Amino acid sequence: MSYIVLEDLDFLWDEAAIQQIKDLWAIGVSLASMAKVVHRPSDEVALLIMDLARNHQITSRRSGVFGHAITHEPSPMYLYRCRCGITFGVAGPELAPSKRICPSCGRKTHQRISFHDAFASQPKEGRR
Ligand SMILES: [Zn+2]
Repeated sequence: MSYIVLEDLDFLWDEAAIQQIKDLWAIGVSLASMAKVVHRPSDEVALLIMDLARNHQITSRRSGVFGHAITHEPSPMYLYRCRCGITFGVAGPELAPSKRICPSCGRKTHQRISFHDAFASQPKEGRR
């Protein structure tokens, strides 16, 4: 008898949720916390992360797959978004512009996004 794995999981992701996971990944947020933010099972988030890593859309991070729970995030956090599509983040003081080097392509980036922006893309009912 043959068996198909993971048949009960949803493999579909929309662009907004993918970007959100990339941003959360970049700042070291845990798998469990990312799952809560996007309202999906952590197994589905893990599959998306596996896919993004295989396609070089995310880079490895010091905190590993498990990361930190959101409630234990060190603050402040700063995020930078490169033209190549990678979002990367640092804890602690803001980086000097000359040190904002993309870990994926090595270019400098000038686009800074706040920690809150990474979470603000969640749909908020009744608010604009
Ligand atoms: Zn880059």
